[in-house]
Amino acid sequence: MCGVFGVYGHKEAAALTQLGLYSLQHRGQESAGIVAIDENGRGRVSRAMGLVSEGFADAEMAALLGPIAIGHTRYSTAGSSTIENAQPILARVRRGHIALAHNGNLTNAVELRRELEEEGAIFSSTMDSEVIVHRIARAQSESPEGRVAEALAGVEGAYCLLVVLDETIVVARDPHGWRPLVMGRLADSVVFASETCALDIVGATIEREIQPGEIVAIDRQGMRSIRALPSAPINRCVFEHVYFARPDSKVFGGSVDRSRRALGRQLARECPAPGAQVVFAVPDSSNSAALGFAEESGLPYELALIRNHYVGRTFIQPTQSGRDAKVKVKYNPVREIIEGKRVVMVDDSIVRGTTTRGLVSLVRGAGAREVHMRVSSAPIISSCYYGIDTPRREELIAAQMTHDELTRHLGVDSLGYLSIGGMLSAMPDGPEGYCHACFSGRYPTAIPSEPELLRAGSAAGVSVGL
Ligand code: 5GP
Ligand code: MG
Repeated sequence: MCGVFGVYGHKEAAALTQLGLYSLQHRGQESAGIVAIDENGRGRVSRAMGLVSEGFADAEMAALLGPIAIGHTRYSTAGSSTIENAQPILARVRRGHIALAHNGNLTNAVELRRELEEEGAIFSSTMDSEVIVHRIARAQSESPEGRVAEALAGVEGAYCLLVVLDETIVVARDPHGWRPLVMGRLADSVVFASETCALDIVGATIEREIQPGEIVAIDRQGMRSIRALPSAPINRCVFEHVYFARPDSKVFGGSVDRSRRALGRQLARECPAPGAQVVFAVPDSSNSAALGFAEESGLPYELALIRNHYVGRTFIQPTQSGRDAKVKVKYNPVREIIEGKRVVMVDDSIVRGTTTRGLVSLVRGAGAREVHMRVSSAPIISSCYYGIDTPRREELIAAQMTHDELTRHLGVDSLGYLSIGGMLSAMPDGPEGYCHACFSGRYPTAIPSEPELLRAGSAAGVSVGL
């Protein structure tokens, strides 16, 4: 997964983009980057591994001049954590330059790349996103938006794109609309972001979502919106509301806080925990859902797990052995809340089950009498090919075990998941128009013919650009 942010028409476009990226850090911590285009149409790029706070020295920021900028935060995926794979991409081409930032995952990238390589194209990264740059460079249409549309015809899968062609910014959202993308206004400038929390930080007002299948271009001639992509059913990602987005964002037109609380309330209705005395979240991703569970069940909401916010994703592996070691670095239970109690621990999702298993053992170690695990989504049983980094099916614990086996494996007294119907009913505009392939196994499109190549970026050198 990734976050994208862009500004058109502001003298401090790069500085605003850096601010926006701070608010999109949760969408990707592997690398961050900014491309700025100056008054003379010259593009400059700054990209670095790691967090936004670490990535941009003052001198580098000062060099990112100009009224147009786009930025990107990238989520870590196995085998592709390299600076070559950091975005935005900035490529010099025949007519000028192409800068591109991508959130999503193309499902036919392997085929498209092979096609291009056979025609002699040279790739400098192993990202699926680079395929789009090559296709834009080859497009013949007159207008910048026409060239982007031409390039995207035949590209399948999930994309929210911010592209700069010379001095035109072009944004595009795939026809299925898996990933979110919004447009905002800041005085005379226009701002684009994956989530509205990034508009808030720069003081921009929300104008509207970019619609699935829409391409918007802005330049000196003004703003144009075209519908040149083939239409498709809407399949917005339900996992954005379950886990990925920030609760202070509006995603797909609805508040994430509201939908997460609704998920928690629905969970309390579907899987109550009679006799339980206290509810707590696994911070931070399930805070709002656990609040919803507490509201509906009437149980007190406590802060029973404390999360260490200074543990980076790349922290040095502790030397202690045992499955709890990693979890202990990140979480510590508050014994005074838990000891002797029958507790409900709410989390938003279970992927591999390793964190959950470690947490249950910590909570038991703090003296819990009973541990009732409640999950504010359905069991994850299938891989995502549209931008979430779910592992292979063999690693998805709910795909490998029965409910009883999983209950024993996690070491809980009871385990309750939300139903798919219940989960979808908590979405802001009702259950229609969502992709739930990771929960249901029902993929809205053909899945990649070579998913392992896409995932690992091995043999053909292609990896997902999340
Ligand atoms: P597990 O028990 O499966 O090892 O971990 C469950 C935890 O992983 C939950 O707290 C959930 O919020 C979190 N989680 C779910 N999806 C993702 C993801 O894509 N990336 C990361 N880093 N955590 C995730
Ligand atoms: Mg979590």
